[in-house]
Order: sequence, then structure tokens, then C-alpha cells
Amino acid sequence: MQKHQFEVIVVGAGGAGLTAALYASRNADTAVISKLYPTRSHTGAAQGGISAALGNTEEDRPEWHAYDTVKGSDYLGDQDAIDFMAAEAVDAVYELEHMGLPFSRNPDGTIAQRPFGGHTNNETGKPVHRACYAADRTGHMILQTLFQQSIKNNVKFFDEFYVLDLLIHEGRTVGVVALELATGEMHIFHAKAVVIATGGHGRVWETTSNAYAYTGDGVALALRKGIPVEDMEFYQFHPTGIYRMGILITEGVRGEGGVLINGEGERFMEKYAPHVKDLASRDVVSRAMYLEMKAGRGIDGKGYINLDVTPEVVNHYAQIDGRKNPDGTPYRVTASDILAKLPDIIDFCETYIGVNPVSEPMPVQPTAHYAMGGIPTNKFGEVVIDEQNTVLPGLYAAGEVACVSVHGANRLGTNALLDLVVFGKYSGLKAAEYASSEPFSELPSDPEAFAMQQLNRLRESSGEENMITLASEMKSVMAEHVGVFRVEKGMQEAVDKIRELKERFKHVRVDDHGSKYNMNLVEAWELSNLLDIAEVTATSALARTESRGAHSRDDFPDRDDKNWLKHTLAWLDDKGVRLAYKPVKITHYQPKARSY
Ligand SMILES: Cc1cc2nc3c(=O)[nH]c(=O)nc-3n(C[C@H](O)[C@H](O)[C@H](O)COP(=O)(O)OP(=O)(O)OC[C@H]3O[C@@H](n4cnc5c(N)ncnc54)[C@H](O)[C@@H]3O)c2cc1C
Repeated sequence: MQKHQFEVIVVGAGGAGLTAALYASRNADTAVISKLYPTRSHTGAAQGGISAALGNTEEDRPEWHAYDTVKGSDYLGDQDAIDFMAAEAVDAVYELEHMGLPFSRNPDGTIAQRPFGGHTNNETGKPVHRACYAADRTGHMILQTLFQQSIKNNVKFFDEFYVLDLLIHEGRTVGVVALELATGEMHIFHAKAVVIATGGHGRVWETTSNAYAYTGDGVALALRKGIPVEDMEFYQFHPTGIYRMGILITEGVRGEGGVLINGEGERFMEKYAPHVKDLASRDVVSRAMYLEMKAGRGIDGKGYINLDVTPEVVNHYAQIDGRKNPDGTPYRVTASDILAKLPDIIDFCETYIGVNPVSEPMPVQPTAHYAMGGIPTNKFGEVVIDEQNTVLPGLYAAGEVACVSVHGANRLGTNALLDLVVFGKYSGLKAAEYASSEPFSELPSDPEAFAMQQLNRLRESSGEENMITLASEMKSVMAEHVGVFRVEKGMQEAVDKIRELKERFKHVRVDDHGSKYNMNLVEAWELSNLLDIAEVTATSALARTESRGAHSRDDFPDRDDKNWLKHTLAWLDDKGVRLAYKPVKITHYQPKARSY
């Protein structure tokens, strides 16, 4: 057993964790623990862009960005945090630029921006160029830039260390327990402050854009320590994942003029969102695609739709829409423009499905993509643990694992990368500030006991249940009943099924009993995390008898502000899930019906 001591421990080396570490390390002794090598974090897969109202192409304002985010959230986002994020966005992007991030450029040298779903000019209602991008590799560039800066700032890294437990003693956060994957050795990290930045949990569902590592470890850690999670019923399905594979095709494709076409050759988004069409927010587009497919208008009647970014089709619809370049000339693209702006997308499609998007449409279907819910925090990244927003001393969360809440019931594209850098920064600053004013609190007497006991139980587990079977049953019931469309009977079925799977998990078989890189053991641990998350998600969804953002119910099709304009809090213990609710912070935008 090895022991370490750092003032601030950051769990996770994605965009949120690295930003937190960078800021914390300016004022405190800081270490990052990551189950992956840092640059393999999912942030590196982000394609389309990071939003900020720079106004480089046309007029834009942070207030418009804030209002679009509130509206996109279906009024469930906390408006104080949204105003804060939109206002901070401009400086955050320039700061990344100054750190060396190679953004794509306009001819005048300013950062290039592209339109994205839900981002509008609030006066005309038309899409606005707000997403700053580095071709279709924005997340990759952010991750590399932040990693380089962290190294430069002497942040200490523990790569391929898997955090198993969060240490909370006498009401204070005092560290974490981690397993060193290479050796199987346990490590205790004693800290004054811990920032959780472990990313999302799309692996709960069958078809997902998420990395294999997206198993919601941070959410599960919190739940096991009696910390509630917020708004877990709101999970985003991105409209355009490659058919059957889920690999993401960025919304930037539609930003560049790509359109969705059904089996009858129709650009159907005109019917569902007459103003913004293919650039409506993701919940709206995913639902429209399902309705088209349900009505037999998928391609060849199958479960997919075509996404077409071939120059002829883009130019045809750009002309119909009257789309203009910033200089007022008609918008036109050539094959080489598409190649320059979407190189990775073209590469993915050629590699995985043998389709060249410059000359053929891409087959797409909605894919599980992003967790709006997570560990509740205030706008400074401090974890809050009840209906009164009481802060848990020394604990912070940022990035996809956290629920601030800026995304409410539905996140707008490019607001996640922004969330990472804004709230990553403030959680790092706050953690360091707290650490500088507090001594190290005592560790509990047997800090590793809980993690060891759970791990040993799994390690010695030799029952008859197969991990892959359990995982695939969970994924399929969640996709069928807690996906894009939901009804009471189906969600109840999902809750019952997940409880059954949790019982069966007690008899799961772990074949590898070794200690070095025992990924079989880690996968079993991750599956137990996913099962907890599935139970909380399905139970929170079943209770919410309305449709809002990504939570869309056939049996309650309307938004119900009278009864449901509130955040869900969910606690989990052996008896199951307990729910409570807390109000949404509304400052100046009163709820209105959404229109597109
Ligand atoms: C394919 C794809 C494309 C996207 N494109 C965009 C986009 O264009 N614009 C946008 O705004 N958003 C986009 N998103 C969303 C956005 O990229 C993510 O929400 C964001 O990158 C998450 O960052 P994070 O720092 O929270 O987590 P991550 O980057 O995933 O980092 C999580 C870290 O936690 C560590 N970790 C996890 N569990 C443990 C554990 N138990 N112990 C130790 N370490 C642990 C991992 O090793 C990793 O370093 C996209 C998402 C996907 C999947």
C-alpha cells in the first residue's frame, strides 16, 4: 500500500480535469489521477467546436448565447450559471488561443466560427456563427494544448490509476483510493480538496458515440458516498451517429450546410423546425428522425436516415434557404472546402463504412451521446448535496460528470467543451483557494477498507453470470425503454430489469485473478457503476410525468411547468432510489413554449 499527499487531487485528465489542474497548480500542490493515459480521454474525440460569442463572422452577443442556452435547456438550466458561462466564454476561448491552440482561421486571421444547432441571432432567429473550431478535431486540440500546459506547470500525473473510492471523513473530503493498473497495488491519496472530472456514461445504452471508458465512475463514486445526483433522466441522443456503430458525425456537418434526407428524398426538418431546419436542437432533430422512421420513411424503410454533405446538395439547399457568406455573396461549397473542413469525418466514413461523404450521403441514426445530469454543483464547481444546495467541504466536480446545471434538459452543441474550460477553471481555482486556507484533515482509520472489500469480493467472484450478457441486457432495455421515446410501462420494465440484473451481478464471474493489468476486474467494476447509473436514470425518468428536452414521453407529451419546473435529486442505497426536487434558478428568462 502506497500513500501520497497532495493539496489538490483531480480525478480525470480530460478537458475538465486538465483545466482544473492547471488553475489549481498555480496556487496548490496538485496531482491528476487518470485511468487512461491523459490524451486518450474522450475530450480528444470532440469534433465540431467550442461556443463563444466572439462575433468574428457576424454580430453576436453573450446575452444571445445565454438565452439560446436557456431555451435549448427547455428552461431547466440554472440561469445564473448560464449567464456566467456565456459571459466567461469569450475570455476562455482567447485564453486557449494564447496557450497555443491551433484554431482554424478566417482570411483576416481571426478565429473561424461555424453555425451549430440552437445557436441563433436573437433578433432575426437565424443561425449564427458561434462555434470556434480546429477543423473537426477541436477536442483533440484542446486536450493536447491543456496537457502540454499542465506538464509545463509541473502538475504531477498518475496515469493508468483507477479511482475506486472517495474518502469523506467527519463531513470533509480527505482524498481518494486508487488501484494502480500496471501492478494491482492500492494507493491512498490524502488531499485537502478533490475535483471529480471523470466524464460521462453513454455506455449504459446500446448505440453510443461514447468511448469504452465512459462508464460513469464519478457518478457511481458519489452515489456510494450518499451524495445525490441531479437530473439523471435527461440524457442526450445525438441525431447523427453512423448507423449501427454510433460513431459520431459532428453537427458541424450540418453547420457547413449538410442536410438530413428521408427515404422519400425529402428534407424533412423543414416540417419540424421551419426556421432553423437541420440546425434545430438535438432533442428536436432526434425525435423528428424517429418519427420519420416510424412512419416508414427511413432509407429503404430501415432504421436510418441519410446525412448529405455532397456539394451539389449543400449548394441546392443553401440557395433555397438564401444562405449567404459574411461578405453577402451566396454561400457555395466545393469538394475541397468539404475536405478542408471535415477531414476526420471523411476519414471515419471511408474507414468504417466505405462511404466517401464528398460524393455519397452518410447513413445515420440517433446515438446516446451526452449526460446533462450528474453530480450537483454550484457555478464554482463546489459539490452541493441537498435541496438547499449545502456545500460538501473540499469536494468539487466539473465537466460531463457534473450538473451545474447549464444544460438543463438538453445541451446545445459546443456548450460541453465550453463547460469544461469555464467550470474546470473555477473548480480548480476554488479547490486551491480552499486548500490554502485549510490544514490537511485526518484520514479515516482504515481508508482503503471499503474499496478493498468490494474489490476482493469481485476478484474472488466465480458465479455463473457472464459480464457481457449482463451488460448487453442492460444496454438493450435502456435503449428500448429509456431512450428517445418513453412511456410508463416501458420505464417500469426497465427499472425491474435493472434490479434483476443487479441481483444477478452478485454472481458475476471474473476469470482473471491476477494483479497486473487485470482489465477483466476493472470491467466488472465498471459494469457495477453502469448498473447503478441505469437504475437511477430509469427511476428518475419514470417519476417525471412530463416531456421536457431530452426526456420525451408519449404518455405525457407536454411540458408541465406548473409541476415539473424543478431539478430531480436522486440518492441510491441498498433499498433503491430516493428522489427529491429542488427549484430551478430563474433570473430574467421566464419559461416560454419552444419554437423553431
Ligand atoms: C464523439 C464525441 C464528440 C463530441 N463533440 C463535441 C463538440 O464538438 N463540442 C462539444 O462541446 N462537446 C462535444 N462532445 C462532448 C464533450 O466532448 C464531452 O462532454 C467532454 O469532452 C467531456 O470532458 P470531461 O473532461 O468531462 O471528460 P473526459 O474527457 O472523458 O475525461 C474523463 C477523464 O476521467 C478519467 N477517469 C474516468 N473514470 C476514472 C476513474 N475511475 N479513475 C481515474 N480516472 C478516471 C479518464 O481517464 C479521463 O481522463 C463530444 C463527445 C463525444 C463523445
